[in-house]
Amino acid sequence: MSFQLNGKNAVVTGGSSGIGLATVELLVAEGANVAWCGRNEQRLTESKEFILSRYPNAKVLTATCNVLDKQDVIQFANNVEKEFGGIDILINNAGQGRVSNFENTADEDWLKEIELKYFSVLHPVKAFLPALKQSNFGSITNVNSLLALQPEPHMIATSSARAALLNLTHSLAHEFSQYNIRVNSILLGMVESAQWKRRFAERSDQDQSWEEWIGNIAKKRGIPMARLGKPEEPARALVFLASPLASYTTGSTIDVSGGFNKHL
Ligand code: NDP
Repeated sequence: MSFQLNGKNAVVTGGSSGIGLATVELLVAEGANVAWCGRNEQRLTESKEFILSRYPNAKVLTATCNVLDKQDVIQFANNVEKEFGGIDILINNAGQGRVSNFENTADEDWLKEIELKYFSVLHPVKAFLPALKQSNFGSITNVNSLLALQPEPHMIATSSARAALLNLTHSLAHEFSQYNIRVNSILLGMVESAQWKRRFAERSDQDQSWEEWIGNIAKKRGIPMARLGKPEEPARALVFLASPLASYTTGSTIDVSGGFNKHL
């Protein structure tokens, strides 16, 4: 069964690395034209070279764009519209988590985290909405975390901001049904990607290998599948939700956490 994405136009924020890049690759492999953004120019160029080395005929566009900068995002949307002539799929993936508990989260950190989780979605949704309304099967899919339902004390600000994003996603799904735009999200557990590589580089026991370190985390956290996810695993869930295959699904979530979800 195909995802029915041939010739469709897709946008992935934060597509230069990790889950975003795996999603870009899957969309391209399925025949979609894909635009993606990130802040770091070099990472963006490398990601484009990587995709074109595998899919030389792909129609792609990359843009240096901070999703928290409204003008950047508007410019990105205008470029995509000009280049692709329309947009069918928006995947809001850009971001990162903040490790801190109540006592060491400063007021400014709360504000930054809330800004990141809200506006990394609000700015792209606003900028791409007019184009999505013109599509016959528009979709918005937000990358969210299981923290939205299952908060962790050592990620207190991220957990509460994630809960807000889940709530917001649901509201958008209801409001945008009138335009035939579906809005869904995935809830991640822990997925191997640049965030985890950065934490690995700062590990207390520098003798530990990546596999040992990752395996210990999975064990300590009690992940039933005893491993972290691979970026292509959430990518597949994202592409499914974004595709016409999920045509009767909106306001919904897919859990991609290896069974880490402890509630019914
Ligand atoms: P990576 O760090 O590998 O990728 C993040 C991507 O987002 C990069 O392309 C980065 O590029 C881009 N990005 C970050 N901030 C911005 C910004 N302000 N504007 C534009 N682009 C931005 O992380 P992951 O693949 O792990 O994470 C993807 C998403 O999944 C994130 O939202 C993350 O919070 C979420 N998530 C990940 C989990 C995990 O275990 N990996 C768990 C739960 C949620 P650049 O830095 O150049 O801007």
